[in-house]
Amino acid sequence: MSSTQPLRSPQETLKLLYDVSREFNSALDLRTVLQRVLFLTMRNIGAQSGSIIVVDEHGEPIESAIIHGSNILSQTTQQLRITTEQGLAGWVMRNRTAALVKDTSKDPRWLRRPDDAVDRTGPKSAISTPLIAREQLVGVITLVNSTPGKFGRQHLSLVQAIADQAGVAVLNARLYAESKRQARVMGALAETASVINATIKLDEVLQRIAAQTRQALNVQASSLALLDEETGELVFRAVDGGAGSQLVGMRLKVGEGIAGWVARRGQPVIVHHAHGDPRFQPETDRRTGFYTSAIACSPISQDGKIIGVLEALNPQHGRFERDTLMVLNGICNLAGTAISHAQLFVQLQAAHQRYRDLFEDSLSPIIITDMEGRIVEANRQAIETSGFSQDELYRMSIADLHQVDEQHTGERLEALQESARTIIYESVMHLQGGETIPVQVLARRVSIESRPHIQWILRDITERKHIDSLRNDLISMIYHDLRSPLSNIISSLEILRSMLPQNDETIESVVQIAERSTERIQRLTNSLLDVHRLESGKPMLSQEIVGVVPLVDDAIEAVRLSLEAKQQSLEVAIPPDLPALYVDKDMIRRVLINLLDNAVKYTASQGRIRIEARPRDEMVEISVIDTGPGIPSSEQEHIFYKFTRLRSRPGSKGLGLGLTFCRLAVEGHGGRIWVKSQVGVGSRFSITLPSAPPESLLTHSAEVAGN
Ligand code: ADP
Repeated sequence: MSSTQPLRSPQETLKLLYDVSREFNSALDLRTVLQRVLFLTMRNIGAQSGSIIVVDEHGEPIESAIIHGSNILSQTTQQLRITTEQGLAGWVMRNRTAALVKDTSKDPRWLRRPDDAVDRTGPKSAISTPLIAREQLVGVITLVNSTPGKFGRQHLSLVQAIADQAGVAVLNARLYAESKRQARVMGALAETASVINATIKLDEVLQRIAAQTRQALNVQASSLALLDEETGELVFRAVDGGAGSQLVGMRLKVGEGIAGWVARRGQPVIVHHAHGDPRFQPETDRRTGFYTSAIACSPISQDGKIIGVLEALNPQHGRFERDTLMVLNGICNLAGTAISHAQLFVQLQAAHQRYRDLFEDSLSPIIITDMEGRIVEANRQAIETSGFSQDELYRMSIADLHQVDEQHTGERLEALQESARTIIYESVMHLQGGETIPVQVLARRVSIESRPHIQWILRDITERKHIDSLRNDLISMIYHDLRSPLSNIISSLEILRSMLPQNDETIESVVQIAERSTERIQRLTNSLLDVHRLESGKPMLSQEIVGVVPLVDDAIEAVRLSLEAKQQSLEVAIPPDLPALYVDKDMIRRVLINLLDNAVKYTASQGRIRIEARPRDEMVEISVIDTGPGIPSSEQEHIFYKFTRLRSRPGSKGLGLGLTFCRLAVEGHGGRIWVKSQVGVGSRFSITLPSAPPESLLTHSAEVAGN
């Protein structure tokens, strides 16, 4: 058709419009619709070339077509973008008004490209009209004829009439394309989700995220960097395509480069020309040899905290598609959860490994059984000590390995099933060759893979048993071999004293030293025997009613010489109406001597010592107070157990027999012993002892003794 052809009658025009409208609406694919609209319009007004551009709701070009004679050009959106910004089409879109250009060389709205220079293709005539549907601008159509002045008003009205029909068809096709695009995004995300969730290993998860990003966004390369909390740097952990693994491990400071900018701001970004962006750091490209042209980057967060970034580099078709950020953000959301799961898994594995190491490296045999006592696990030490192989042990029950103390565990281990507390008893462990060793058993219910099991620790106590028996030997040696000679010395000293001349001070003091020393040895041996007796829970034998004052006096008498030698003052405060005690007199006298002896020993010369007594809840409380160095609170508990628990510790002076004996003796009477002390101020040792029944109340007067 040419302009010389007469224009159509109104009927013909109506018919034409009806036909084109049917034609437009018979397709839904945007590109097909565009080509048809353009082709039909060109044919009907006699244009030689034309373009059609479709824009989204923000006016951004999303699809286009160019027809040159009979050539249909595709992938033209990028090329036409500039027309919408600076050319005639842009003017039409901005003003939503059609334009008729009779001579393109004379109209400033016509954008001249290099190939469109006046001297190459010459002046032309053009018509451009907006495509509008439901009051929305959906695009622009531009038609060109190479002869200036070819198009007139009538052409313009016809194009406008066709454009009115085309608008709706284009809008529908655009909406259809939009929904297809969204479906594609959802599909890509769903696929990404299933791929990255198919593993729990952190490195694999990261690698899969990178690979999925590259595939879903159709880019040359993708990379994932995680934030190192300690250094505050981004560390590249996974790369797909591009620089590949040589980028892995590289670090970027937060704030540095585009990734660093995204990590700091927490917002996604698309940079179409990386090397022209001031945030871009060409250094990484220089190091890897990869050329970054465009970047899309999005932050990965976990519980509202940024943990890393995901980057897509260099889209295969030159420019990022419109939905790039939507897809990238979607993948980042999935990545946040997948990474946190994988990290939790790593932590769990580490915890498991720590437990495993503790289990394997324990110096004691550890056995895990099910709730019926069947062995399901045994550590290295259990295998070594028992002599059984792992397979042999796994076929045994815990009762084959040691004598289960049913009194503690219950016949069917029910005590262990019912409570989670540790059950402790002594037993013997059966070794592979038929031998046995003494063990202390610690059994406890534990949960393994959320099912209840029992953990048995079988501590070898051969050594301790050996020491115990040595101690018992020593004690019976004292009992049998020292006690009677010692009593002999004491009675001989008594006889000797009666035979010696009176009033000879020298002889008197020598005899006194002999007497006190033997008394001291006797007290020690008696205490040692008492500790042995009391430890094995033997009952108190000889309790009698005894007044506090005579008992205290007796004790003071025993330490008087050392007290005087150190010129210490001793104050005694005992209320007159204090009830008498009901105790093993000799034993408690030794308790008091021990406390006083320590007070004198640890207090400096000329220091003060005080004894107090008072009734307390049906008992009598007696305290020995000194102005010695005091005892640090960390020590206060264990000084009463020093002898039984620690025996003699290397470097410590005393054996710790004294206070251990005091505790056992007082507890044997149903009383208590404790210390209150402040370093640098002094100590107050207190004991409570049973008081005698009321009718046997003895009266005492407060006394002040010694200096
Ligand atoms: P030993 O004096 O043989 O070590 P004891 O059982 O009498 O044994 O005392 C245990 C420890 O308690 C002592 O070694 C000492 O460190 C501390 N101790 C006991 N009494 C006093 C006291 N009055 N002042 C400071 N320290 C004391």
